[in-house]
Amino acid sequence: MSQAVELLSELVRRPSQNPMGRPISEPDYYESAVTDFLEGLFRSWGVRYERQPVTARRDNIVAYLPGSASQPTYVWEAHQDTVPALGMTVEPFAAHIENGRLYGRGACDVKGGLAAMLAAFHQLLNEPIERRCSIILACIVDEEYTFTGIRAFTSQPIRAEGAIVAEPTQLRIITAHKGIVRWRIHTHGRSCHSSQPEAGVNAIYRMARVVSAIENYAAWLSSHRRHNTLGPATLSVGRIEGGISANIVPERCTIELDRRILPDEDVESVPDELAGYLLQHLGPESWDQEKPWMVLPPLDAEGKDKLVARLRQAAEQVIGWAETGSVAYGTDASTLQAAGIPCVVFGPGDIAQAHTADEWIELRQVEQAADILYRFALIR
Ligand SMILES: [Zn+2]
Repeated sequence: MSQAVELLSELVRRPSQNPMGRPISEPDYYESAVTDFLEGLFRSWGVRYERQPVTARRDNIVAYLPGSASQPTYVWEAHQDTVPALGMTVEPFAAHIENGRLYGRGACDVKGGLAAMLAAFHQLLNEPIERRCSIILACIVDEEYTFTGIRAFTSQPIRAEGAIVAEPTQLRIITAHKGIVRWRIHTHGRSCHSSQPEAGVNAIYRMARVVSAIENYAAWLSSHRRHNTLGPATLSVGRIEGGISANIVPERCTIELDRRILPDEDVESVPDELAGYLLQHLGPESWDQEKPWMVLPPLDAEGKDKLVARLRQAAEQVIGWAETGSVAYGTDASTLQAAGIPCVVFGPGDIAQAHTADEWIELRQVEQAADILYRFALIR
């Protein structure tokens, strides 16, 4: 068994489920089992590392590989968390291997990519220092829900010429993706007994007008704002909640929105832009919106030619091809890039197997990814 596959098995056997905002305290949740394993690994390899507390039981862990002073420094980033293992049809933490695939929660997203980075990092340790670049290996918490790990990591200055973020891209080099903003809108009314609805104000009726206006705005948005590779900007209402029972006129109703942003849009002004539209089309009805609970900037393809060329060259050496492109999902890469580090997304596995009931990854791709990353950092 190669070191990359061994490491992947060890990682999958250690649950690191993200509670996705729910108040869960069971030991199978949060990233600490994986963080402790990584700490043991870095200690046994004799490399400098630091644990960076983010929230309770959730630490980033960052390891440093010193390289030639005349060469660039690169960040390799992978997240430690997985989505919950609820409803899986395979044993989620057994790391079962069959027909060249390893099954389990996180195998594809993104413990396969993390294992490839770890194996490459360890292989580089055996090279003379002047034959390798400096690598900052950042193992980050909470990528699957609110991105608190990458924000904590980028809140400190990082000196690096480029970054590779592990996500399942099937070894394609991803240079762009959309950003995400999620926030809530509330309507307010006045409750009363439903036998005399005229005595109250129905917050659900008010929300119905807001939702209908949002549907029109979303249609306008998708037809007027479009990126040549990423497609249209979008807006979707994904959740609605209001009222207590059928015999009470509701006094409050809430919706949750998901807006996907293009690289030339301003993340900060997205909720205000919708508010302006609602004001214009509904007047100052009694609705209000909260500040977003989640903001992920878009990943822009500009300004990363050197990084892409270096990774392309390594990929061509190992698998005989290299392909760049964009993806529909958001990653930690855009937050790193917003901190001033040119960034691409790259890793083994297919996003189609991420978060699924029988999540798996092809082991050959994990090994190829490890070899590509090793060559990426090697100086010849
Ligand atoms: Zn992921």
